[in-house]
Amino acid sequence: MARRKKVYEGKAKILYEGPEPGTLVQYFKDDATAFNAEKRDVIEGKGVLNNRLSEYFMTGLNAIGVPTHFLKRLNMREQLIRAVEIVPLEVIVRNYAAGTIAKRLGLEEGTALPRPIVEFCLKDDALGDPLVAEEHIMAFGWASQQDLDDMVAIALRVNDFLSGVMYGVGIRLADFKIEIGRVYENDFQRLILADEISPDSCRLWDIETGQKLDKDVFRRDLGNLTDAYTEVARRLGVLPSNATPITKPTLIN
Ligand code: 5GP
Repeated sequence: MARRKKVYEGKAKILYEGPEPGTLVQYFKDDATAFNAEKRDVIEGKGVLNNRLSEYFMTGLNAIGVPTHFLKRLNMREQLIRAVEIVPLEVIVRNYAAGTIAKRLGLEEGTALPRPIVEFCLKDDALGDPLVAEEHIMAFGWASQQDLDDMVAIALRVNDFLSGVMYGVGIRLADFKIEIGRVYENDFQRLILADEISPDSCRLWDIETGQKLDKDVFRRDLGNLTDAYTEVARRLGVLPSNATPITKPTLIN
């Protein structure tokens, strides 16, 4: 029995070679990190919930015509995805002040922003994913003007979709981060949504109580992270039918 080939391991996920060329298997770990991995822990069941939640959001986005890397969920911790060339930028959309924008601009957490604000950060752990301007992005060749226009368009569509879905279950989407990948089709390249959408990369607040239902629970020691993510999954009706988490990557022949 051959062990499948690991292509990449990040803080929360592992990518394995997929069954067909151009595909990968994305495995969701239980590892939680914050503050550029200075704080870390293993949160039993987090990977199972994020796999389900990311499947739910990506399927919905695909259905309304937002191109994503998601192909299908394989099991409790794994999904089949299209292989992409990741653009080395984090795209952040903010509806309410929180986190780094609150600190940087002296805004009170929870302040409604005048309109959704799109920011770009360079994906570079050693530098702490610094905020970068469009000037930097184009001057250093991380993305073209056309790429930037496409990334903003995708980000704002994701924002409208996610904000609406969350509002429907009594949750405010304060902000989120997405990653974008390039795919090549014949001689053309296009950008599609990649990585994951889960409470690891969003700020989600209960509309009535303001209770945090995202990774800030872990970052700020506000309680049990699995309980918070389970609550999001429960409200959306996407709780795993079998709640027993798989603790190790599965092997394929
Ligand atoms: P902030 O810039 O305020 O720290 O983060 C803004 C939003 O992007 C938050 O929802 C946060 O969870 C998400 N985010 C920013 N950087 C990262 C990252 O490196 N990993 C993940 N998973 N989410 C991030």
